[in-house]
Amino acid sequence: MVESQLRGRAIRDERVLGAMLEIPREQFVPPEARVSSYTDGPIPIGHGQTISQPYMTALMAESLELTGAETVLEIGAGSGYAAAVLGALAARVVALEIVPALADLARENLRRTGRDGNVVVVCGDGSLGYPETAPYDAISVAAGAPEIPAALLGQLQDPGRLVIPVGEWDDQELRVLVKLGGRVDDRVAAACRFVPLRGSDGWR
Ligand code: SAH
Repeated sequence: MVESQLRGRAIRDERVLGAMLEIPREQFVPPEARVSSYTDGPIPIGHGQTISQPYMTALMAESLELTGAETVLEIGAGSGYAAAVLGALAARVVALEIVPALADLARENLRRTGRDGNVVVVCGDGSLGYPETAPYDAISVAAGAPEIPAALLGQLQDPGRLVIPVGEWDDQELRVLVKLGGRVDDRVAAACRFVPLRGSDGWR
């Protein structure tokens, strides 16, 4: 997976490649799908949701340019895989998940793999961010939004980075926003297809 799907597609950040080599992805995939853990695509995790394609997780993590000192907010923890990857790359991760059963699953998977030391899973609507522990040096949104939720930009530190799929219900652009000196720069990193971001500032 790391050689062909990630390095082979120009993921260059050695810390991201190292984290994805180290974290056992099969522990975040439902038992019946475990043989497919390292395939090149998303996998259903129940409740109509998926664990993202490995390349997408890597691209998002790389775009945040983490050094190890950051506090990161993840929106859409799912089964907890990306939260574990981000936890290996940053100081602290707060991961929000709107489906209670998935929040429980993410907590359990992170605990079982020993990745819960600096990763906290909170059940709630991440379209409003999570003001309790803001600001965040980096924010990663793992569900497609109709627009960039204003609360997320507000909770982003300066300097800070936000990666988010924005667009239609079933077809988005992965956007990387960089806040620096009071300005926000925005670029498109890839075309993508994420599950919809629900909640008050997502798809209703
Ligand atoms: N980060 C996961 C991807 C999970 S898919 C990975 O490691 O692969 C995206 C998740 O976002 C789903 O579990 C879905 O339930 C959740 N979600 C959707 N809208 C949300 C919202 N407003 N707040 C928090 N989580 C949300």
